[in-house]
Amino acid sequence: MKRIIQLVAIIMALLVPQSINARTGVNYGPSASAFSVETNSDAQQVKLRIYRDGLGGKAVKTINMKRDPASKTLWQATIKGDLKGKFYTFDVKYNGKFVGECPGIWATSVGVNGKRGAIIDMPSTAPVGWNNDKRPAIDAKDLIIYEMHHRDFSIDPSSGIEHKGKFLALTEPHAIQHLKELGVNAVHILPSFDYASVDETRLDEPQYNWGYDPVNYNVPEGGYSTDPYKPEVRIREFKQMVQALHKAGIKVILDVVYNHTWNIDGSNFQRTRPDYFYRKNADGSYSNGSGCGNETASEREGMRRFMIESVKYWVEEYHIDGFRFDLMGVHDIETMNAIRKAVPQDIFIYGEGWSAGSCAYSGELAMKANISQMPGIAAFSDEMRDALRGPWDSNSKAAFLGGVKGNEESIKFGIVGAIQHPGVDYSKVNYSKAPYALEPTQMIAYVSCHDDMCLVDRLKASVKGITMDELIRLDLLAQTVVMTSQGVPFMLNGEEMLRDKKGVHNSFESPDSINHLDWNNLERYPQVMDYYKGLIAMRKAHPAFHMGSADMVRRNLDFLPTDNCLVAYHINGRDVPGEQWGDIYVAFNAHKRARTIEVLDGEYTVVCRNIKCDQAGITTVTTKDGKVTIPAQSALIIHN
Ligand code: CA
Repeated sequence: MKRIIQLVAIIMALLVPQSINARTGVNYGPSASAFSVETNSDAQQVKLRIYRDGLGGKAVKTINMKRDPASKTLWQATIKGDLKGKFYTFDVKYNGKFVGECPGIWATSVGVNGKRGAIIDMPSTAPVGWNNDKRPAIDAKDLIIYEMHHRDFSIDPSSGIEHKGKFLALTEPHAIQHLKELGVNAVHILPSFDYASVDETRLDEPQYNWGYDPVNYNVPEGGYSTDPYKPEVRIREFKQMVQALHKAGIKVILDVVYNHTWNIDGSNFQRTRPDYFYRKNADGSYSNGSGCGNETASEREGMRRFMIESVKYWVEEYHIDGFRFDLMGVHDIETMNAIRKAVPQDIFIYGEGWSAGSCAYSGELAMKANISQMPGIAAFSDEMRDALRGPWDSNSKAAFLGGVKGNEESIKFGIVGAIQHPGVDYSKVNYSKAPYALEPTQMIAYVSCHDDMCLVDRLKASVKGITMDELIRLDLLAQTVVMTSQGVPFMLNGEEMLRDKKGVHNSFESPDSINHLDWNNLERYPQVMDYYKGLIAMRKAHPAFHMGSADMVRRNLDFLPTDNCLVAYHINGRDVPGEQWGDIYVAFNAHKRARTIEVLDGEYTVVCRNIKCDQAGITTVTTKDGKVTIPAQSALIIHN
């Protein structure tokens, strides 16, 4: 018996501190609240302060927390009574000095501007029916991702949306209807955790930021709520948004930015565990692989644990369907694989497989070239993106869309989803001279995102003397390449409205006049939305365009011999499970004049031609000499 008790005590000692360590902060109960915070082992004292408000006023209670003797780095305190509605901070003393108050790294609810943690009853934030909310069942191969910023999407009066720039915008039927009509089945929302650059006390003034400046990783941003002073409101409204999108069969993907923080000195990381979470160079300076002045150290046990638990938390508490990792190439491979393992298989994970500078880490980083070592994780393909629109380091340089030859193999690389394929000459692929994906679902296919110029601006900047007619043709051609790629297609919000940003290529803090979507464009250029709708509907209905398996792509997709600025391929639809079409030919012509490809003689239904795309068929074509014509600057898709 004594031995059993000893054994239980040992197991408890092993388990208890770890489970508390995983998510520190506050554990609210109506009769008592337990607080915990993790520090470095040389912390001398930790003060816990309780406040009436999220900002301002004096502490109503200050107590010294107790160090957990087993862990040495965990500090705890329990306060009796019902603290619901109150706020708290931690203040840690190192080398005889208190570092400064903060809500710790594990606040799940905060006051305005995220300065203090909030004590709330989390279950009470659930909207009606939340327990029945489920993640829509959509395979990675079937995803069509729509990247959006809350403010871009709804801020303009032309949106007809009531809750402009808010989470609640995506609960409104008009907004949902637009997404459903377009046909996308996943929204990737730009940073929606609490970030610093929008002052939540001045929301009556127009303020804009993308939000890549994290403060509290596990709390929704207050600026997107209808009342940032009331801590439950942002949580409930975020859940309402997820619930409404899920009801419409649309997944919600969160843009997560664990690779850097808003600042170092004031960050919750630094105020609880100074210099633990950040990488440093040999000379003691902070490494800057994020390009934002600091870079986190995912390889450290505490940072890795934080990332894993944070991602799990968003899945559990907010029913999030996927994560887009900002500068994933700053993180180490082991951490990314651990995150993959920690969440259900249907959670879609992808990221930027690059960094913005060199990282102070000697191990393997989660770069796109290493994606084969990270099964179940995808990376953006800048090969195809830049082969279409032009290189990232010069806005005025054109590529395939501008009639520049030499980009064909990079486009083919994107068509097959970055896998090994006998029809691609990898020596001619830009950036990557080798395939990196094990499966095509490990590659994100896209031509534009929030970064760099949007498609309209890029075409205007890079294609000399472009006319409106050409602009539309090339826009549609570009998205046809994306939406017929075997990778996972991804589009920037507003491309379906032919959005522009007045030529601004880095609009992270530009005013609404640059970033807003003009919904009137739906009437101005109805052919654009019509085409996008038709294109997406065709992709969804035809497994040939998203086979989801590298072997199947290698077996059933073969490239046609073509000339410069022309890419064409054939899919044997007969061997693709669920596919109704037989021989499918897809061709992209970037020339200013019509070109031809050679196909097997016969009668074909034309489903995409000029500026029309309709899977029901636009016309038919019968070939006798094996030749089919592709009009200038456009895509052609035919099948029998
Ligand atoms: Ca904020």
